[in-house]
Parts: sequence; C-alpha cells; structure tokens
Amino acid sequence: MLATIADIQDFTMSNATFSEIAELLRQHDSFVVMSHVRPDGDAIGSQLALGHALEEMGKTVHYINEDGLPDNLAFLPHSERIVKPAGEVLDVDVAIALDCATKPRLGANALVAAEKAKLWLNIDHHKSNPGYGDVNLIDSSSPATGQILYHLITSEGLPMSAVTRDAIYVAVSTDTGSFQYSGTTVATYEMAADLVRQGLDVGDINAKTYDSHPYRRVELLRRLLNSLEMSEGGRLADWKLAYAVQEELSLKPEDSEGLIDMIRAIEGVEVAAFFEELQTGEIRVSMRSKNPAIDVCEVAKQFGGGGHTMAAGIRTEGSLDGVRGEVLKVLTAQIAAVASV
Ligand code: AMP
Ligand code: MN
Ligand code: MN
Repeated sequence: MLATIADIQDFTMSNATFSEIAELLRQHDSFVVMSHVRPDGDAIGSQLALGHALEEMGKTVHYINEDGLPDNLAFLPHSERIVKPAGEVLDVDVAIALDCATKPRLGANALVAAEKAKLWLNIDHHKSNPGYGDVNLIDSSSPATGQILYHLITSEGLPMSAVTRDAIYVAVSTDTGSFQYSGTTVATYEMAADLVRQGLDVGDINAKTYDSHPYRRVELLRRLLNSLEMSEGGRLADWKLAYAVQEELSLKPEDSEGLIDMIRAIEGVEVAAFFEELQTGEIRVSMRSKNPAIDVCEVAKQFGGGGHTMAAGIRTEGSLDGVRGEVLKVLTAQIAAVASV
C-alpha cells in the first residue's frame, strides 16, 4: 500500500524517547500541565496522571485548563486542583501540553499562564499534531494519551500513585469507548489489567464514569433525536444543537460527551456527525467514522480542525446550518468515493 502524507509525517516526526522525557522531568522543578479546551476524559485524566507523578517526585505542579474541570470528571481524586487560568503568568520551568492536537487548542488564557516556561513538552496521540513542543512524543498508534503516559511512567519507574492509576484508567477508558474501539490493543488490555492489579476498583470507577449522568443529558438526547437526519442511503447520520436549546435546558458543555456514539452505532451508518452552536457563535463539529477508508481527520483538516482517522473535530465560524451544509457536502463526497463496509 502506498504511504499517505499522514503516514510520512508520522514517520518523520522526531519523537523523544521515554528516557529523554523522564530525564527532562527529573531535571526541572516547576511545571504547568495543560490540555485542550472542552476537556474530555483523556485530557483531564492525562493532566492528573502526569501532574500527580510529578508531585510525587517533589515537583511544583500547576494544573491549568482553559475551560476548567467539567462536572462529569470531578469524581477523579485530586481533580479539584485543575483550575481555569486566572490571567497571571506562572513562574514555571516547563509547560506540558497533553492530548492537545494544536497549540491554540490549549486556549488563549492557558497560553498566557504558560508564557514564562523555558521548555515545552508535547505528549499526544493525534496524528494531526504538528509537534509544536521543544520536545515531542506523538504516538498516533496509541488509543489515548493516557496510555502513552502509562508506558512512560512504568518504563521509567516514575511514581504510580492511586491518583495517577485511576486517572490513566479513565483517560484510556473514555477515549476507547470503554475499551471497544478498533485502536484498543493488547497493550491497552494489559495496561488495564495491571492497573486493576495495583488496586483500581473497576466497578466503582466505571459507575462514576458512565452511570451517573444528570437528567438534563437525557433531555438533550430527546432534542438531538428530533433533529436526526439520515442521508447517503443510510451511510451518514447527523444531528445538531442550537445554542438556544442549551440555554433552555441549562446544559453544560460536557453533557453531549459520548452521545454521538448512539448514531454512530446505527446499522449501516459509516459516518456520524454532530453540529453544535457555541456561546461564542462558533460552530463545533464532532465526527466519527466506522470505515477506515473514510478519514474524518482529513475532512476536519479542510475546515481547520483535526483529530484521528475515526474521530475528529472542527471549530469554525459560521451559522449552524451553513457549516452543517458545507461539512455534509464534503462527507457525502467522501462516502460516495468509497465502497461501503
Ligand atoms: P470530539 O468529537 O470533540 O470528541 O473530538 C474527536 C477527536 O478530535 C478528539 O481526539 C479531539 O481532541 C479531536 N479534535 C476535536 N476538535 C478538534 C479541533 N478543532 N482541532 C484538532 N483536533 C480536534
Ligand atoms: Mn481529548
Ligand atoms: Mn485523546
């Protein structure tokens, strides 16, 4: 098979080794640990996992996220340390970006907080990550940034506290759809087994992650279902959410997390898309593919977004229906160009 441009970029990306990164962590004293806006389980879990390992090594750690800690992840021990940037420039040696495909996706205020850092470390699994750190570790074969951190921590003998253990599990569980997506590997299950061996309570952590959603999330689902449209002979499903509905239902950004899996799971659907109007007026697009020949990351890139082959996103200016029309046009062409799975 011919290599794609993405493969070549993956190949030529000069990644640091685990031992080089561990050395960098040991040599410095203060860190700001960050992740992407609208943080998901992998973002918050990765921040807590590496941040707490650093604290156990005696380091000073600031946990910054542009949008703060979402309520659905507040059960994670130590998560109260994750705060929104307060506008001040932090006095730190090293800035660490985790699970964040591009530097601007850390958020403008988070970037201000990290301004004084002398060194940038970028650890991620998005294939669209250009390697914006001084030191980079981008492994697009890993299903979650949390799994990269697990291998870094275990292979370099860094501290694996209960905080780090639970955070890694949630990071990987949420990014793999509970260890189900095709990116889930032998190493992922071996990692999970090891975390359980180290005392992780599977029933408790899964109940907290998946079985305690607020009622308003079901009301949101009702609205989304009313907007559901199927096209391209049932190969493309999409739904949308206007900002007015979010206000009416008092929704929080994390309420829609994972709901796209419901339409992704429809028999015959190969691409699912979710269009959301944000308070800023921008439109956020979430896309999922079930056919490896339909690369939604490539579609996302056409609109300034990025992600993975089977899961990608966009944030762009425009109207809800305008952006929807443009993105569906590209997706429809992509789908038409490949045979169904
Ligand atoms: P989501 O649909 O928000 O769950 O995102 C799917 C995947 O694409 C995640 O790994 C995101 O980090 C990534 N992603 C989402 N939006 C963007 C964006 N605007 N730029 C780059 N990557 C993104
Ligand atoms: Mn993420
Ligand atoms: Mn991730």
